[in-house]
Amino acid sequence: MNPQLRFQHVHADHLKEWFAETLAAYPELHSRPIYLRKVSMRYSTMRAQPVINWQFFRRALRHYRVDFSNHTEVTVHVKVRELPKEVVVGWFAHELGHIVDYLNRPWRGMIAFGLGYAFWSRYMREAERRADTIAVDHGFGSEIQATKRYLINHATLPRHYKKRLRKYYLSADEIDALIAAYEEEGEMPDIVEI
Ligand SMILES: [Zn+2]
Repeated sequence: MNPQLRFQHVHADHLKEWFAETLAAYPELHSRPIYLRKVSMRYSTMRAQPVINWQFFRRALRHYRVDFSNHTEVTVHVKVRELPKEVVVGWFAHELGHIVDYLNRPWRGMIAFGLGYAFWSRYMREAERRADTIAVDHGFGSEIQATKRYLINHATLPRHYKKRLRKYYLSADEIDALIAAYEEEGEMPDIVEI
């Protein structure tokens, strides 16, 4: 087990166990301080970010945090702790994939990443693909599929949007963002084609 793994406000023992299990498959993260935190988020269910402290500026010392929300925005009335194991593990594996993708970026590169991710949908899409690819490379292919299947089947969206989601096969975060936009605006933003 990663000696630098910390849980913040996570009460469900099975989530702690599943996260530690998933993290064990990422040897490049074993010497890193990693946090899993439960926090209330409006627009996403899970996200992975570097922690902004003084270590942020030293790539080798940087801390990383995976946040998850009590409730999924994606599925009405479903809590993360009530999701099936493979769906949660697929989601964790995807988030840890983001962290692996952050490892070699200097702090300026991290800031550029944040801006690109926030303002350029193509950049976001590529980052999501990389996170999925890294998770698959670490042996989580079937779990990644399970997470997406779950989201597509349970997302609270009209059917024609679900069809588009299936067609473009978006990542968990992209589906989250689309649903949040849908709930906010009452309409879907365009899905960027690649
Ligand atoms: Zn993601």
